[in-house]
Amino acid sequence: MNVAVIGAGWAGLSAAHTLKKAGCAVTVYESGHQPGGRARSVQSPDLSKPVDNGQHILLGAYTETLALMKSCGVDAAEHLHREPLYLGTPNNTFRLRPPRFPGGRAGMLFGLLGALGLSWQSKYHLVRSLYQLERKHWKISPDTPTLSQWLRNQKQTHAACKYFWHPLCLAALNTHPDEADAQIMANVLKDSLGNRHKGATDVLIANDLLTSLWPTQVCRSLNLHLSTPIRRMTRSKNGFCLNDRYEHAAVILATSAHSAKKLLADLPECNDGKTLHTQLSTFEYRRIATLWIELTQPWESLPPRPMLMLEDDPKQHAYGQWLFNHAHIKGSRNRNLLAIVTSDANVLESLPREKAVHYLLNQLATETGDACPMPTIRGHTFVVEKRATFAATPNLARPAAQTPWRGLWLAGDWTDTGYPAVLEGAVRSGLTAAKHVLVGRVQSCL
Ligand SMILES: Cc1cc2nc3c(=O)[nH]c(=O)nc-3n(C[C@H](O)[C@H](O)[C@H](O)COP(=O)(O)OP(=O)(O)OC[C@H]3O[C@@H](n4cnc5c(N)ncnc54)[C@H](O)[C@@H]3O)c2cc1C
Repeated sequence: MNVAVIGAGWAGLSAAHTLKKAGCAVTVYESGHQPGGRARSVQSPDLSKPVDNGQHILLGAYTETLALMKSCGVDAAEHLHREPLYLGTPNNTFRLRPPRFPGGRAGMLFGLLGALGLSWQSKYHLVRSLYQLERKHWKISPDTPTLSQWLRNQKQTHAACKYFWHPLCLAALNTHPDEADAQIMANVLKDSLGNRHKGATDVLIANDLLTSLWPTQVCRSLNLHLSTPIRRMTRSKNGFCLNDRYEHAAVILATSAHSAKKLLADLPECNDGKTLHTQLSTFEYRRIATLWIELTQPWESLPPRPMLMLEDDPKQHAYGQWLFNHAHIKGSRNRNLLAIVTSDANVLESLPREKAVHYLLNQLATETGDACPMPTIRGHTFVVEKRATFAATPNLARPAAQTPWRGLWLAGDWTDTGYPAVLEGAVRSGLTAAKHVLVGRVQSCL
């Protein structure tokens, strides 16, 4: 079977890899000059080596991604720094350190009870809410659709919101808790805290570029057309015609929702097609800003954690939420690197870039203090992804892989994976679309 995959992000590549392994003739069309999509690399003249467009983390619960790496012959232990979830500020105003044994939920429970910076009242309400959520099979009542509404209903304290719920929500959903879908947040918790697999809550950080985890290996064996944007997709006698030129029996559309909407416009009209078009029009997007800083030497004096929490407070021009210190990433290819990450970074939109960088560096200096002076900065680059993820808001109708057009399937982190816009969701969506192609389960309105 001759299949086209449009888009070489993690969704498209996982689909292409699966189809290729199953014996299909697969061609991947990618508009960019490199694969990886929103997990690609960027080269800045101010840094000595390329960096990812944004600092990513994976979780131990990302089982399909880890299985994919394995099937590509990549040793996860070699390429991913792995450690139990640790939430803590550089100056220890807050610290939640679940013990290594027992891991998972029990570990988190011990971690919460021993957390620094939370009162006993905060701990009690936090543990109670997590326990109740699990008892309700991680289902959120429709009366509290947003995370903030649910948190108020659960009587969560200011400190619990500030140090636990809000940072986790921004990191996982890239959406402010006032707007974030409480059910998607519960799904994330279910998959990590509610997961019986012991390492599910572990944090995994790539010690090299994300594309080197598996996309590079997969691309070597694929028929990949880079710098080839698909601008037009029409029906043809035997399937689909792309750019009035490339004929394929089946297509997996693995672009962003935004591009998918444009490409579907030239297909024959039908009612379900209109519904899909409306669904794709309702997506809103949120930014993620990453300030990459290269130092003249590794910053060893910070607490020995690759990921530290920053205390963001936009009213005080403190916009950074996480600090990643590559000095403490096992096997890092650039130990002099730091990343300051701001999720749901629309707040930075109105600021000139130099001003934003200035505020982020100021915040870093304030929060790390004199005890751990930062080595000299060699260079920095500020990467803002405008459409980093879709806004994970309540009642967002995310389309399934099936489309009304026979032989056309959707993939991407925005499809109905149950996950927010994350790598694991992208991989799973690609696997789902590929499986549909393989079993030939087609529902058509034509
Ligand atoms: C800064 C940042 C930080 C993030 N942090 C995390 C994190 O910590 N953990 C996590 O799990 N996830 C994180 N994410 C989200 C994660 O990167 C995405 O969920 C994932 O990469 C999406 O993959 P995808 O294949 O669905 O989409 P994309 O990566 O967007 O892939 C779509 C591809 O289609 C191509 N394309 C579009 N239109 C066309 C066309 N017309 N013709 C041909 N090609 C086309 C695009 O160029 C792109 O390569 C982050 C994202 C960003 C931007």
